[in-house]
Amino acid sequence: MKLIFATHNQHKLQEIKLLLPKSIELVSLADLKFTDDIAETGATLKDNALLKARYIYNKFHINCFADDSGLEVEVLNGAPGVYSARYAGLRKNDFDNNQKLLAELKNKPNRNACFKTVIALVLNGNALAFSEAKRYKNYELKEHTFEGVIEGTILTEMQGTHGFGYDPLFKPNGYDKTFAEMSTEEKSKISHRGLAVNKLVNFLSANTY
Ligand code: IMP
Repeated sequence: MKLIFATHNQHKLQEIKLLLPKSIELVSLADLKFTDDIAETGATLKDNALLKARYIYNKFHINCFADDSGLEVEVLNGAPGVYSARYAGLRKNDFDNNQKLLAELKNKPNRNACFKTVIALVLNGNALAFSEAKRYKNYELKEHTFEGVIEGTILTEMQGTHGFGYDPLFKPNGYDKTFAEMSTEEKSKISHRGLAVNKLVNFLSANTY
């Protein structure tokens, strides 16, 4: 089965290629020569993931999934959330975003936060194995979402040089180092994205041709 991953991020694409079952032929937006940015206008991560997956499915009529991730800070009522990439402005600069977060949390004792990923999958019912497809009348289009969450705390200064985004400020619960002090393999095993991808892979392995 052909499956598009609606992302321009080559790193994410390679990462997931290794995890998918052999029956899935992963297609990238670059393969389709699609270079536009899809505006992420949703109010939630789930809205944005669905919006991107539906947009690409409707354009190419090929089964498709998309992801959206963000950092949610308890004392900031879930901010930066869907605005994580552009928290400190449209330049989408990681250092500026981290500095803004530190400023917002100055003198705040509650540093609880979580990273969240939502993956949205849009499948034509014909792609589903019989056991799954028979649950849906007329093999209609079916949408599934998969969520991964990791809880942690925001430190008072940046630590580590690996990774990206808010990694230098995020220390997952139960660990004594930040995401930016972990190797990619170490982070992927416990990260929000890793957890959501595992759920997607398990679903596809069990339910598709
Ligand atoms: P995306 O949806 O995966 O592109 O993530 C949107 C934004 O959330 C990124 O630009 C980062 O600011 C933040 N973010 C998402 N995942 C991570 C992560 O694993 N580490 C650090 N920051 C992240």
